[in-house]
Amino acid sequence: MSTTAAAAAPRALATPVVVSVSKSYVLLLTTMMLALAVYYFIGVDEGATSVFGNSMVVHEFVHDARHFLGFPCH
Ligand SMILES: [Zn+2]
Repeated sequence: MSTTAAAAAPRALATPVVVSVSKSYVLLLTTMMLALAVYYFIGVDEGATSVFGNSMVVHEFVHDARHFLGFPCH
């Protein structure tokens, strides 16, 4: 029985990413704020609740995503 070169070659082990607790809080809060902003602009921003007044620019920009994700629109 012969061994192949690939089986005998040393393989790099995966190293875990070490993140401190305080840095993980910052990453989680940043991710949460960005996700809530995306959720708001896709699902809620329309008409009277629009951040940019009565402009429909944001609504029209995310309109297809709104329908694709099942948010009520019109
Ligand atoms: Zn629509």
